[in-house]
Amino acid sequence: RSVSSVTIPPPACMLRPLEVPQRYLFGPGPSNVPPRVLAAQGRPIIGHLHPEMYEIMNDIKRGIQYIFQTENNMTIAMSGSGHAAMECAVFNTVEPGESVLVAINGIWGERVAEIAERIGANVHRIVKQPGGYFSNKEIEQAVEKHKPVLFFLTHGESSAGLCHPVDGIGDICRKHNCLFLVDTVASLGAAPIFMDKQNIDILYTGSQKALNAPPGTAPISFNERACHKMFNRKTKPLSYLFDMTHLSNYWGCDGQPARLYHHTGPVSGFFALRESLAIIAEKGLEESWKKHKEVAAYLYRGLEDLGLKLFIADKDLRLPSVTTIVIPDGYNWRELLAYMMKHHQLEMTGGLGPSIGMVLRIGLMGYNCEKTNADMALHALAEALKNCKKSKV
Ligand code: PMP
Repeated sequence: RSVSSVTIPPPACMLRPLEVPQRYLFGPGPSNVPPRVLAAQGRPIIGHLHPEMYEIMNDIKRGIQYIFQTENNMTIAMSGSGHAAMECAVFNTVEPGESVLVAINGIWGERVAEIAERIGANVHRIVKQPGGYFSNKEIEQAVEKHKPVLFFLTHGESSAGLCHPVDGIGDICRKHNCLFLVDTVASLGAAPIFMDKQNIDILYTGSQKALNAPPGTAPISFNERACHKMFNRKTKPLSYLFDMTHLSNYWGCDGQPARLYHHTGPVSGFFALRESLAIIAEKGLEESWKKHKEVAAYLYRGLEDLGLKLFIADKDLRLPSVTTIVIPDGYNWRELLAYMMKHHQLEMTGGLGPSIGMVLRIGLMGYNCEKTNADMALHALAEALKNCKKSKV
């Protein structure tokens, strides 16, 4: 057998054209992408180290500073999904053996706790049932007890549909010399957050939710306190790809005259992210928050008219981008979802992590955040409820 001959034939699937269905993405993300962002992503590739690319990255940095409401210089987009930002935040600011405090009221805190454990941090958890939230007093007591270098909180808990209050927590962390890390993957653009004014030390989000870019890039920002901690480490961060000493240079944040090759950024993904940030800048953050709130309120009324119960009882704590409803008695939630996908090409999802089997989730974010889409979601759900009734669990 000659080593130069091919023995594995081309797979039959590769000889068929790519097929991608049109779907209404009314789950917790990814969300539908507006044509303008899709078009941006389809522009010709340029080199990741070309001056025009640096300009685009500079624009992205300014766009992120706006949506985060921060003046932090150390503001970049990760080459990777929301998890890349989660790992970047923890890998860079925590060293093995240091104490980390994580608030868990759904899946995301648990994920961050695991990430911190994997790098050998001493992780302490404060836990509530999905949909629960922590008072500032509870947080302060835990911070006093565990003396963490980092406290993690999820702003938009997408697995439960809760938008956690943030006011005052940054001050508590500051008082106890601890960094405050906040996840806004599911909430940014849909609910107000003010990185500088709320004393948040590290903030990150994702591209594919209310920003309506394709998945694969994740904005993140570090303030002076966070930079001080991460650039005065005794050990190097575990990840080379996510090391902020390199990423800060790649994004022109380290004051060096030259940007050096570190990794090849997702050029098309950055085009799309830039355009999605431009859309939100043109519209204005306040307008975006207002719209999400209005459409969510409209959706709540429609759901209650269908006899459904919202999972988060307190209106003020509901996450405007992702609405959770209690799975109605006598229905198999998987069948409801399958019915809507089959007959309406419409995606809603079940719970995630601890909320599996507890809730259905409806996401109307950014481009999808319209009353007409809420009507479509309500209609599909009403049909599913009518047609899946006998399927007792
Ligand atoms: N945090 C929250 C609150 C999320 O909703 C998600 C995505 N569902 C993530 C983090 C993780 O983001 P990704 O799936 O882009 O890695």
